[in-house]
Amino acid sequence: MDCTKAMQFDLKKNGIEAKLIHYIEPYMPYLARLGFTGKVIDYIDFYRTDLERLHKSMLAYYPVNFTTIVCAFAIEYKTTPPLQIYVATLFIWLWIYGIHRLYHNIPSTGIFYYLNTHIAFHHAEHKTIPPWLDLTIETIQNMVWFAILYFLQEVSGVHLVPSRIILLSMLVYVSVHIVNYSMIGSDKHTKQHENPHINYGPDFLDHMFGTNSDDSFEDMIGFVPNTILACLFILYLT
Ligand SMILES: [Zn+2]
Ligand SMILES: [Zn+2]
Repeated sequence: MDCTKAMQFDLKKNGIEAKLIHYIEPYMPYLARLGFTGKVIDYIDFYRTDLERLHKSMLAYYPVNFTTIVCAFAIEYKTTPPLQIYVATLFIWLWIYGIHRLYHNIPSTGIFYYLNTHIAFHHAEHKTIPPWLDLTIETIQNMVWFAILYFLQEVSGVHLVPSRIILLSMLVYVSVHIVNYSMIGSDKHTKQHENPHINYGPDFLDHMFGTNSDDSFEDMIGFVPNTILACLFILYLT
């Protein structure tokens, strides 16, 4: 059953709406003085929409978020406190979103033509290089995005994200972009190439910051094999 219908069904079955209206409606004149004008049902509808969205997004993202956190713990549990592993994993999602968005807002001409290859080549309207070379340069550019975080931490002495979690995210990012997005294809990623200021990814942060192309949630289940393989690779190496 569609989760939206399921949630409406639950609310109706339990009579929550009717009970809330029954108990709160008499107090509405007083609540109106505090600024809560309108009918109780409007507020219920408003929060129900939020709950439905939260439910849908959890269904769409929990497999990859769960896998990422398990893999991060598998890699780091011996050397990093659990809370730091958790915060670092959340932070790296923000880093990916932020650095990608930043590169869309810095120059790509003059000397920046070779520094910002993401715009100069990967998002070029008229491609001057073959696709395999574009993807190779883009992969190097993506690696640089993670290397910047690594060097910033080294220079500042603030080591929030353990190096192996940076490596894990880098392997997932580049492999998703090459295999899942470029070879298999992704509607959200195609839209990012059509309009560079939307769908920076990861999808849940686009929803959070209002840069999503539409209200649909990206099914990120395809990230799971990449995350597990990257994790096994790092465990094998270290
Ligand atoms: Zn791309
Ligand atoms: Zn981009």
